[in-house]
Amino acid sequence: MRYIIIFLIIYLCYVILRKALIPLLRTYKLFKRYQKTSNSNAKEMVQDPYCQTYIPKETALKATIGGEVFYFCSRKCLEEFKKNS
Ligand SMILES: [Zn+2]
Repeated sequence: MRYIIIFLIIYLCYVILRKALIPLLRTYKLFKRYQKTSNSNAKEMVQDPYCQTYIPKETALKATIGGEVFYFCSRKCLEEFKKNS
């Protein structure tokens, strides 16, 4: 009889833990995925050769000057860089 009670308590603990852990695991997985995407975005940083600022590649102005690809933070930087080169 004592074993059955112990078994029931363990089983109840397991059920409660599982109910509590599943949403936790789900949020953890979402958090991991979010971390991954934010990390890959952080890797996509490019430097403006004119003002030396780092900008995300997606928002940067892309220009090919003399066969080389450059990324600029603004049109002004692009124009100034073109003038100087
Ligand atoms: Zn700039």
